[in-house]
Amino acid sequence: ELHLPNRIRRFAVERRDRPAVTEGETTLTYGEFDSYTNRMACALTSLASAPGRVGALLRMGLPGVATFVGCAKAGLVFTPLNWRLTPHEVAAIAVDAELEVLIVESDFAASAAAIAAAVPGLRIVVVGDHSAVAEACPWDEFVAAGEDTDPGWGDDPETELLQLYTSGTTGRPKGVVIVHRNLYNVPETFALYEFEDDSVSLNALPLFHIAGAGWLSTSLSAGLHTVLLDELRPPLVAAAIAEHRVSHTFLVPSAIGMLLELPDLSTYDLSSLKVIAYGASPITPTLLARTMDTLGCRMVQRYGMTETMGALTALRSGDHDPRGTRTHLLRSAGKPLPGTEVQIRDIATGEPLPQGETGEIVSRSRNNVSGYWRRDAESAALYTDDGFLRTGDAGHLDENGYLFVTDRVKDMIITGGENVYPVEVEAVLAEHPAVAEVAVVGLPDERWGEAVTAVVRIADGVEPPSEQELVAFTTGRLASYKKPQRIHVVDELPRNASGKILKRTLRDTLSTSDT
Ligand code: AMP
Ligand code: MG
Repeated sequence: ELHLPNRIRRFAVERRDRPAVTEGETTLTYGEFDSYTNRMACALTSLASAPGRVGALLRMGLPGVATFVGCAKAGLVFTPLNWRLTPHEVAAIAVDAELEVLIVESDFAASAAAIAAAVPGLRIVVVGDHSAVAEACPWDEFVAAGEDTDPGWGDDPETELLQLYTSGTTGRPKGVVIVHRNLYNVPETFALYEFEDDSVSLNALPLFHIAGAGWLSTSLSAGLHTVLLDELRPPLVAAAIAEHRVSHTFLVPSAIGMLLELPDLSTYDLSSLKVIAYGASPITPTLLARTMDTLGCRMVQRYGMTETMGALTALRSGDHDPRGTRTHLLRSAGKPLPGTEVQIRDIATGEPLPQGETGEIVSRSRNNVSGYWRRDAESAALYTDDGFLRTGDAGHLDENGYLFVTDRVKDMIITGGENVYPVEVEAVLAEHPAVAEVAVVGLPDERWGEAVTAVVRIADGVEPPSEQELVAFTTGRLASYKKPQRIHVVDELPRNASGKILKRTLRDTLSTSDT
């Protein structure tokens, strides 16, 4: 019942002829989707055995969604990879995950080649032009070879389902292992989103993000008509909403901002849109008010992280009231979801803090993952001694139990909904011969939420490179969203007595001076 494959099996009967998934011109009913994912499960089982890792370098589309559900039906672990990473970055993840199979779009042939070279024995299936990748099986042949029988994989709550990669303070990506139990509260969130029997859900966020994988799981678990969009581009989002009469979607704040800025926004019929769920980074009350005014829809916020399989708290649509008396709630991340406990702990001592005081946000919930793939120390460090997950975010709870996320304890930048760990960017810039020292921080940015900003000290006696030259140096070494948007040259970096760079000071000076 709570188990994702069981829900699909149930809808294959109850909603047999209702639309399940649409990509472009293709729509599969729940009956067809069930058969298609049976084929996937059988085809995958011929290449890997449970609980093997099945990598996917795919945009949001039918192959990705079918691979996800096919893996779930076969007891395999769906491991979507970030296709915005460089071949070098993504190959390191493939090695870490010990991938057995890779399903890849032919557009990402360079990454597929890098992965194939790094992972001996890997089986590759190509969506699109299969000649782009050596020794690969074409997708259609692969699916056709699978039988339409459900492997009937059991419903053990601890069976691994998904492995999603996050970077982390060391800059070394780690796989967050999500089991079926982590999704068991999904049906409890349907009321929050105000789903109805005929709701149509747009899925535009990538599979490799918890927001994308989580919204897809929600949409399929609810038996909705799930419309897939391969890339989160605002004109495509508007066009898809209009074409498919979309009622529900999940977007990140930067994408909502860009959607509203579309010069021809008024030419799209967006009247079907009822609810926008949003999260992954902070939003401003101004943007919330503007969205509700312009689109006439309701908003629901989720706050959480990959390690919590989505949301810990939610700000309900009823708490979004830009004209009312509770406008301060527009800065809140809402209240804990059923079955989730949230506390605030002193950052230095780990002691629980009284209501109203700011500290680290910690949580206890069945959504919380057990840990990271093959990273025992980091998995242990994720939890307090008494079993609360440490979010690395700072905030407080008000007298009514609303959570306010006010800062980050962890050294992470969120730009356009993508996480960037400064250490990765610093390591690349430090390789430039003219750079003596470098610190990377996130500065407030109207459009992206935060902008990756590098502060460098140039080595003595060296001709200082131009800002463009330094940025160009990171091309090919870093995914484009990680590249610094601004570079400041300074004579000295602020440090504390023990020599540690004071990032907060740096951030404060730069955001006020705005040079
Ligand atoms: P990820 O693992 O990519 O989902 O990143 C999780 C982090 O994103 C959290 O620890 C927060 O720092 C940030 N985040 C997610 N949702 C929100 C939200 N609603 N408001 C503010 N920050 C958020
Ligand atoms: Mg994120």
